[in-house]
Amino acid sequence: MSEILQVKNLKLYYSTKKGVVKAVDNISFALNKGETLAVVGESGCGKSSMAIALMRLLPRNVNTYQGSIIVDNEDISKLDEKTLRERILWRKISMVFQGAMNSLNPVLKIGFQIAEALLEHDKRLSKKEALAIAKKSLELVRLPEFIADRYPHELSGGMKQRVVIAMALVLNPQIVILDEPTSALDVITQANIINLLKRLKNEKGLSYIFITHDLAVASELADRVVVMYGGKIVEYGNAEQIYATPKHPYTQKLIASIPTLRSDKTLEFIPGAPPDLIDPPPGCRFHPRCPYAMDICRVEEPPLLTASNGKVACWLYKGDIVE
Ligand code: SF4
Repeated sequence: MSEILQVKNLKLYYSTKKGVVKAVDNISFALNKGETLAVVGESGCGKSSMAIALMRLLPRNVNTYQGSIIVDNEDISKLDEKTLRERILWRKISMVFQGAMNSLNPVLKIGFQIAEALLEHDKRLSKKEALAIAKKSLELVRLPEFIADRYPHELSGGMKQRVVIAMALVLNPQIVILDEPTSALDVITQANIINLLKRLKNEKGLSYIFITHDLAVASELADRVVVMYGGKIVEYGNAEQIYATPKHPYTQKLIASIPTLRSDKTLEFIPGAPPDLIDPPPGCRFHPRCPYAMDICRVEEPPLLTASNGKVACWLYKGDIVE
């Protein structure tokens, strides 16, 4: 499988009154063509910051932004703003933002909102042409054409989510970042959206980065999984292996906390809270919450190394490293 996206040593730090927040701290991973890479972890572990770093949609208080983001063999982190907007964003890599369905403009019709986004990126289109493409994109997400003449308040949550997915796909990108695309929906609508995403992926050969705190939802779509903790990747590998035999104690706890209908297992929880990203704990950032913490964990950060089951950053697997 060929890699469509390579992320190398990505860092995104923010300046705040309290200090520098190391939201994304030197992460590297790759996305294969046609695969879904789920990025999982608790809230505040850097998942959404990683997404905006990939899109280069940086807030004003950025302190450090470093690393390479190679899309289709081109490092987009080095492109000027104009080229990035004209050639890359929404055309090669697009995003469905967290809560985007609640940001639709309440006083504009759906068709006009999709067409407006199109016109912004393709000045050669007439309004009529843009509206016709907008209607086609609604068809793609299985919404009837008349929805183009509706206002957001006339749509259900599931329909609005289909609209924002249509918006992300309207310029035919190859890579789509989905930030918690089902978190505000009821379970039936969630299942419908997941099925829609699966169908679109197969029909259009899309590659997804699927960001979620919900490992059960991620398991529906993921080919591979990245587990983030404290702004870092702690485990990374094939989804089946990670769900069946998680290596990192944090991943083990996350998986043990997924409820299932078929067993009466006691659900686990992770004591404590995710680390303060201004002043993270020394050594392994998970050590204050880890039941297996050793002396070395409190002083030395474990590197992310290849183990027999993907990649893992944990001193427990020192002897299992195959690279
Ligand atoms: Fe736990 Fe140590 Fe592994 Fe960190 S490095 S997860 S503290 S055993």
